Amino acid sequence: MALETIRVSPGFQKFLPKEYQDLVENGPFTKERKVSELGSFKEILEEHPMCAGCAMTLFIRVTLLALPSVENSVIIGTAGCGRLALSQAAIPFVYGNYGDTNAVASGLKRGLSVRFKDKPKDVIVMAGDGGLADIGFSAVMHSWFRKEKFTTIMLDNEVYGNTGGQESGMTQKGMVLKMAPNGKKFEKMDMIGLAKTSGVAYIARIAPTNPTRVANTVRKAVLIAREVGPTYIQAYTSCNIEYAIPTPKVMDDAREVEKDRYGFMEYMTDDAKAYWEKSEADRRKLKAPQTK
Ligand code: SF4
Repeated sequence: MALETIRVSPGFQKFLPKEYQDLVENGPFTKERKVSELGSFKEILEEHPMCAGCAMTLFIRVTLLALPSVENSVIIGTAGCGRLALSQAAIPFVYGNYGDTNAVASGLKRGLSVRFKDKPKDVIVMAGDGGLADIGFSAVMHSWFRKEKFTTIMLDNEVYGNTGGQESGMTQKGMVLKMAPNGKKFEKMDMIGLAKTSGVAYIARIAPTNPTRVANTVRKAVLIAREVGPTYIQAYTSCNIEYAIPTPKVMDDAREVEKDRYGFMEYMTDDAKAYWEKSEADRRKLKAPQTK
């Protein structure tokens, strides 16, 4: 959403709700915000119907803060818990059919690149493990093979949380769930390995235990996708309902899982590394005090 499309026309201000005016004046548009500033400005996601204490909502909140150009970003989602929050945020959201998020994102990104040649438009797919590893697997893989320039973020809660607890390809082997009473028979899918094989430019695995690291990872993924090629973030975002995690223990669980099997990991192709090192060096130069 370009800032100009949400700015209130003079004369209409008094008719619009304060919430809206607050968003235009104090929202994250055109400004880079830090995690430490959360709570001090009007965020693009404030209310949502997801379960209280769900780690996925924290991850989504930080992701939206970290987008390098929120006014030039579009999110693609699909059925699943995450879209309950994403569809409430003040950012364009496309509700793809189950399975076609990465096909929709491919077309949208290409169309935006033709329409806005001199302005980068960021496309970000954010959907669950069911939507991306199971039902959307083919479209995800082919978007990676084609080197489509957008970011795919998997909200990996290792279950179909929205429909009562069926196992997904990302559920761990042996896990017993409400709708998998005999325990899952197969290993968790290696989507990180598949991303590497497909030539994805930047890959990260992360748990939401360190919000600043989440923000830095998302920013890096979106910027590399803009210039180099597809990027993929796989985020552990537990389901406290289907995994019976008491709400006050959600972050303890995230820390344990991170220590045990979901440690932070990132990988870049040589092209992505060269681009990132140069762009960070340029950024540091711009920030350095100018001497005469
Ligand atoms: S069902 Fe699970 S993943 Fe979905 S909102 Fe509730 S806690 Fe979060």
